[in-house]
Amino acid sequence: CGIIGIVGTAPVADRLVDALRRLEYRGYDSAGIATLERGHLTRRRAEGKLRNLETVLADAPLASHIGIGHTRWATHGRPSVANAHPHATTRVAVVHNGIIENFRDLREELLADGANFESETDTEVVAHLVSREMNHGRSPMEAVANSLPRLQGAFALVFLFDGDDNLLIGARKGSPLAVGYGRGEMFLGSDAIALAPFTDTIAYLDDGEWAVLTRDGAVIRDAANEVVVRAPQKTTAAA
Ligand code: GLU
Repeated sequence: CGIIGIVGTAPVADRLVDALRRLEYRGYDSAGIATLERGHLTRRRAEGKLRNLETVLADAPLASHIGIGHTRWATHGRPSVANAHPHATTRVAVVHNGIIENFRDLREELLADGANFESETDTEVVAHLVSREMNHGRSPMEAVANSLPRLQGAFALVFLFDGDDNLLIGARKGSPLAVGYGRGEMFLGSDAIALAPFTDTIAYLDDGEWAVLTRDGAVIRDAANEVVVRAPQKTTAAA
């Protein structure tokens, strides 16, 4: 129900949780984050309130400068740690707001291709779709570009890739997603309120658009993968 992503220049775990706290007003039943520890996807998830996630993080801290976070309002699959986002394979982790309407068909197709599902969510098919593309030799960007047209329904998605500590990809169809511009850092978030502690310079994605973020900036593309030029705006959301 709330999304945050940071490709930063300092540890992100605390900042991810702070941003999720600013999204609490939307309601949620579980929360989680994924980072790259020594280059590898690492997740911490908890059912219930953010303080439960903070307890998990206190026991097993994360040091990475890149990561994604999510507060979940379950639509498919009960609230549980296994159903909490991020969902992941060995290649990619994803957070999702919304509903993937055709997840049953995609799940059948991916199961037939040997994917191992760990949750009851509609979201997990997205991780396996992108992962399968990468198994076939596609880059992260190509893998996302090839996967997005397969998804029916409403979504805001943010992807983090194993072994790539200077890349986040966000996509939007129906659910809001904003790109935040920092100094040597870039952000993705559900709204300006989540991003307010980090930056007041924001570009909202339009429906069908997706954005590739590195520490240097963002390239936004439309559904036909054409680059979109969009000047970021100053927002007045209170930090
Ligand atoms: N449909 C997804 C799930 O049930 C995402 C829910 C949300 O937007 O938080 O896990």
